[in-house]
Amino acid sequence: MAATLFSKVWDAHTVRVLPTGQTQLFVGLHLVHEVTSPQAFDMLRLRGLRVAFPDRTVATVDHIVPTASQARPFGDAMAEEMLAALEKSCSEFGIPFHALGSAEQGIVHVIGPELGLTQPGLTIACGDSHTSTHGAFGAIAFGIGTSQVRDVLASQCLALDPLKVRRIDVDGVLGPGVTAKDVALEVIRVLGVNGGVGFAYEFGGSAVEAMSMEERMTLCNMSIEGGARAGYVNPDETTFAYLEGRRYAPKGQSWEAALERWRALASDADARYDDRVRLDAAGIEPNVTWGINPGQSVPVSGRVPHPADVPDAERTSVAEALAYMGFSGGEPIAGTRIDVAFIGSCTNSRLSDLREAARIVRGHHVAKGVRALVVPGSDRVRRAAEAEGLDAVFSAAGFEWRGAGCSMCLAMNPDRLEGREVCASSSNRNFKGRQGSPTGRTLLMSPAMVAAAAIAGEVTDVRTMAGAEVRA
Ligand code: SF4
Repeated sequence: MAATLFSKVWDAHTVRVLPTGQTQLFVGLHLVHEVTSPQAFDMLRLRGLRVAFPDRTVATVDHIVPTASQARPFGDAMAEEMLAALEKSCSEFGIPFHALGSAEQGIVHVIGPELGLTQPGLTIACGDSHTSTHGAFGAIAFGIGTSQVRDVLASQCLALDPLKVRRIDVDGVLGPGVTAKDVALEVIRVLGVNGGVGFAYEFGGSAVEAMSMEERMTLCNMSIEGGARAGYVNPDETTFAYLEGRRYAPKGQSWEAALERWRALASDADARYDDRVRLDAAGIEPNVTWGINPGQSVPVSGRVPHPADVPDAERTSVAEALAYMGFSGGEPIAGTRIDVAFIGSCTNSRLSDLREAARIVRGHHVAKGVRALVVPGSDRVRRAAEAEGLDAVFSAAGFEWRGAGCSMCLAMNPDRLEGREVCASSSNRNFKGRQGSPTGRTLLMSPAMVAAAAIAGEVTDVRTMAGAEVRA
């Protein structure tokens, strides 16, 4: 019978259906970091349990890492304690740990793919919402909470409700200066931040097929912001070319066998979906959020909504967002002054993101009064960017060039907004206080748009800037 990739992978990993109606699902790869794991390891110790599959578990440190100087001990005693706890747990339970100072350290959703750990057909779990990133490879990847981290450590299984599948086709060609981030923000605006609840999103269509793996990762990364439990793209030759030769990718005859397996995983042409949505790629502009959730965005040529112009059901939330963000409603989003520009996060901190932003800033300088940071997603990205001189381009333009980590995406480290600063950010969440200041304001956009805003000192249509015509 014709099936989606989601149901093929789900069925292949089903251990049994539980009396609750949930499925006990085997987890092929468990990614661990310092924030959601300490209590989970403690719970194992309390019960005298071991990690069931240490060879299917991989750890790194990302959220709490200072990016200006990564010398130990950290200035923040609590951060130092969290890292020390993870080091101890990895050593005690036999889990591979990609430590600070190695090229393999970085944001967990950046290093998994880089190392070739993320592969088609896997079920992947991690104690971080943006685990959906790994779906770019045709994996089914779930963000989980601390008690589920404990469950996976102890049993390598999760109890999950089955999901429906929504196919989202993005057809046509994206315009110059329009990126996967803009597609992600478009999907969330069109379907809503809760539109994906109960669903996995399958992304396809000619615009998605034309995307690089890094662009697909950006798209899948933000599935969770649209309420979807997971997001994925069917694996294809682009996927295989990215994976070939990576450290943990199969080699030799195993590679050939894997290719055969992976090709059979893609959704069948006549697979049935629970819902289908189609977007026209040519109609998508660079998008910018104006509010306090990632669905509150407008095209850069658009205006911030006025409460009087929105349906009754949205009026209160729009008014709340406008008040927090300091907009009156009705003003053009372009021209919004910024204080901080942040290029980084698991959404947009890969080499192609940095190249794209560097093309925009080359020969320009960050506007007076703007604090601008570039934070590579992994130490491997940092080294590769430095090898091609991107650090020099950013530094000459007045950006701070940092070490790898989550940085200002979540601000569980020294990188944070102050007071009511407005930040043009390539990250994934614009919730109140997300970037460290309880009153800080976040405008989500693509890395190229952040670069343009940093130079202009205000939200600017990157398509009007030299360099924007070339897509990574
Ligand atoms: S970059 Fe942000 S969203 Fe991604 S793993 Fe780090 S804190 Fe989470």
